[in-house]
Amino acid sequence: MRASRYLIATQKETPADAEIVSHQLMLRAGMIRKLAAGLYTWLPMGLRTLRKVERIVREEMDKSGAQEVLMPAVQPAELWQESGRWEQYGGELLRMNDRHGRDFCFGPTHEEVITDLIRNELKSYKELPANFYQIQTKFRDERRPRFGVMRAREFIMKDAYSFHLDGDSLEETYQVMHRTYCNIFDRLGLDYRPVEADSGAIGGSASHEFHVLADSGEDAVIFSTGSNYAANIEKAVALPPQGDRPAPSQDMQEVHTPGQRTIEAVSNYLRLPPEQSVKTLLVKGEEDENGQSGLVALILRGDHNLNEIKAENLPGVAEPLTMATDEEIENAVGCQPGSIGPVKLPVPIIVDRSAAHLADFVCGANRDDYHLTGVNWERDMPLGRVEDLRDVVEGDASPDGKGTLEIRRGIEVGHIFKLGNKYSKAMNATVLDENGKAAILEMGCYGIGVSRIVAAAIEQNHDDKGIIWPQAIAPFEVAIVTLNGHKSPVVAEAGEKLYEQLRQAGYDVLLDDRNDRPGVKFADIELIGIPHRLVVSERGLGAGTLEYKGRTDEEKQDIPVEEALSFLV
Ligand code: ATP
Ligand code: MG
Ligand code: MG
Ligand code: MG
Repeated sequence: MRASRYLIATQKETPADAEIVSHQLMLRAGMIRKLAAGLYTWLPMGLRTLRKVERIVREEMDKSGAQEVLMPAVQPAELWQESGRWEQYGGELLRMNDRHGRDFCFGPTHEEVITDLIRNELKSYKELPANFYQIQTKFRDERRPRFGVMRAREFIMKDAYSFHLDGDSLEETYQVMHRTYCNIFDRLGLDYRPVEADSGAIGGSASHEFHVLADSGEDAVIFSTGSNYAANIEKAVALPPQGDRPAPSQDMQEVHTPGQRTIEAVSNYLRLPPEQSVKTLLVKGEEDENGQSGLVALILRGDHNLNEIKAENLPGVAEPLTMATDEEIENAVGCQPGSIGPVKLPVPIIVDRSAAHLADFVCGANRDDYHLTGVNWERDMPLGRVEDLRDVVEGDASPDGKGTLEIRRGIEVGHIFKLGNKYSKAMNATVLDENGKAAILEMGCYGIGVSRIVAAAIEQNHDDKGIIWPQAIAPFEVAIVTLNGHKSPVVAEAGEKLYEQLRQAGYDVLLDDRNDRPGVKFADIELIGIPHRLVVSERGLGAGTLEYKGRTDEEKQDIPVEEALSFLV
């Protein structure tokens, strides 16, 4: 590419509304532009990186034996009614009508569509296992779209869905996907951790998230220094030590039951009879629109009439009890109401955590009850505040007894689930088994946030000059800067020659032939984060040299013109 004929839309100023560094740098480096909240255009520079991420994901998925498909972004409501999610999904589902008044949604995920396809296409166990994936645009009407493409409303996801006759086969493919994800994030050059995650929301039996470690991450992950134990915070807080963890099929209820001391304290406080006492403590806080962080939600046993839980039971709270809307629950818990463990229709109470009295509660009182020690609601509820949690968990023994715990912030870039038969059962997706009987399919699903990865990579790789791309996903691998090329035919010619040579050797090269001051060009190339820079100047050519500087090198160095290629390799 010649920079003079390419949209290099760099900006000096840091955009005011961009809070985190990846968002700022993606705007400043001319990678993306905002159209509306959570909607972004990928400019040529950004799209190059996005496509490289896609390519790596695609290659590794293909290698794993998965087959690529492409499903429609717009989905008919009937399928979602069949699975039950038309009612359950809440505010993130963008619903719409066609000209005949029929209901549709813009797909936030594709379990229904793929299950519908497979129930028609696959007939026999002999065709199993099968894994289908796509790289495609999703829409989720996020309550707080932010951080640019990190939490967008329209974004690119790789989603895969596998189909099996039994759990063993599902387990096998699940492990293949786990390895495939590790290969993908290794190739992307990212520092990441696979962690155990809660699968309650989707209803399956196992789930892992892949987190890119970065201080700006919205999630917290905990891992052991002495073993492979790693979990996201929701999982870690509620998990029994590995030894006595219930089998996956067992009642998830136990896993989520808060400690006895907590139940008693909260029940006493709310003056609730034990059978209606606290079922689940929601340990995830999120900022509301006013920037107030940390909604605290209690899910109580049984059905409640909120009017019966008297306001005077919660002194100091002006509007003590409100029935949370589906959307609020979804935002507070990060999952859908009615789907946490086996508790049907949990009745939530959401209380402002600023209510001082909540400080009285110490939740997850002790290790015996499988909670973190001494977590204090007032102080720790917004779990986004890893700094606070660090005091609580860091240095504690790992639940598996090996090593001590560390806590870090993470960006969720991938998520794999064993879905079991949730969708296949609801939608009657079967194949004939060895005995010619219809068998409900077992399913797995596997997501990667392709566009989010671009932002996550920048969070991990930048300095005060700009982005520092891992070579594998740099928009260009090499920049050739010609100094005064518009005035000096020798320089222009040498630049062109080098450009052709490197291109033929397979490099993605940007020839910066713009009629700009050297300082401007250098600053742009550093901001964009191109790993290698070669400068062609009259003075250098006179001495038979080019000037080389790697993106993170302290010093530049001169190299003989004819050695440029061998130097880069
Ligand atoms: P989050 O917890 O960040 O909201 P999620 O758990 O809702 O993500 P999944 O349903 O697991 O997301 O989707 C698979 C992947 O899609 C996620 O791991 C993430 O990388 C990506 N993703 C989800 N929501 C967004 C979004 N709003 N913008 C960009 N990428 C997203
Ligand atoms: Mg989400
Ligand atoms: Mg998540
Ligand atoms: Mg997820």
